[in-house]
Amino acid sequence: MNSPSHHAYNFNAGPAAIPLPVLEKAQNEFINFQESGMSVMELSHRSDLYETIHNNAIQRLKTLYNIPDNYTILFLQGGASTQFATIPMNFLPADKKAGYVLTGSWAEKALKETAPFGEAYELASSKEDTYSYIPELPAFEQFQNDAYVHLTSNNTIFGTQWQTFPETKNVPLIADMSSDIMSRTIDVSNFDFIYAGAQKNLGPSGVTTVIVKNDLLENNNTNIPTMFDYRTHADKNSLFNTPPTFSIYILGEVLNWIEDEGGLDAIAARNEQKAQLIYDTIDHSKGFYKGHAASESRSLMNITFNLPSKALEQAFLTEAKDNGFVGLNGHRSIGGCRASCYNAVPVDTCIALRDFMKSFQDKHS
Ligand SMILES: *Cc1c(COP(=O)(O)O)cnc(C)c1O
Repeated sequence: MNSPSHHAYNFNAGPAAIPLPVLEKAQNEFINFQESGMSVMELSHRSDLYETIHNNAIQRLKTLYNIPDNYTILFLQGGASTQFATIPMNFLPADKKAGYVLTGSWAEKALKETAPFGEAYELASSKEDTYSYIPELPAFEQFQNDAYVHLTSNNTIFGTQWQTFPETKNVPLIADMSSDIMSRTIDVSNFDFIYAGAQKNLGPSGVTTVIVKNDLLENNNTNIPTMFDYRTHADKNSLFNTPPTFSIYILGEVLNWIEDEGGLDAIAARNEQKAQLIYDTIDHSKGFYKGHAASESRSLMNITFNLPSKALEQAFLTEAKDNGFVGLNGHRSIGGCRASCYNAVPVDTCIALRDFMKSFQDKHS
């Protein structure tokens, strides 16, 4: 599956694997994009050629996610981390609170960034259990007057993922989907605002995708710097200033690849299969490998596990590296091991990891 020159078993958490056919296509047209005599990077963002790339990417997102017409898609910069601040800046008014579901480090960071703009609080949390599961929301009455509810659909560092999303009725639901966007079908109409840095499931770093319900923009706070006001970008189709054109081009090609692979249902089925290979290995290891996430909250994207000792973990990571595996170390904040199995990670790569895990266990137990 992997060409000889692109052979790493890439389990990086982000930036992460990009589909090989996308890289090959980009390479083929790198110097002379569609007979323009220029690279995509050299096109004016006001040219017809670039606008077609831009609008095609938007259209593919709409089609793949079945996004209703009363939503706007934005391509922004500054990563998901910038959204942590611009969300409360735009959507948290002085007379309301925002409820944050704490399921990991990214959610904590998002909550922290509300401080300069207004009042926000912890609506639910699994922190006391080292974020090993997805907590339940309290009764609706407790948050019915909130400006919005914020959650993180997949917890990249701890390896948990929402299996079904909560019903928040008239309270806008905002989701950071950075690490599982386009990994499965979702009902976009359950959400009012979805955001994701592209570098896990959508392509290269440098572009952040936002899917926002138009109603929410109408209730936007005022007196916001132009570039931080979502309406600026919504009104100009994300062409108010220079967008990250090359990142958007690759993102569009990644979406094209998803279509070629059979769409989101096919991608989701493959993601299940890949994750199952690794979780089965963990579950049948008689405790040699210990998964961090509670089984009902397990992520299909980031599989986190520990070995019986720190020394064995170190040996595992070193041997894995010698065998061509990349990115299996856990996040620097929690250690352990993590296999990130995003869309572009081939099944064969997960089979290789399963085989390696089995042989490592045989050798060391
Ligand atoms: C990676 C990640 C982020 C941070 O994204 P940046 O684009 O680096 O700012 C935020 N949230 C989640 C869930 C992530 O996985």
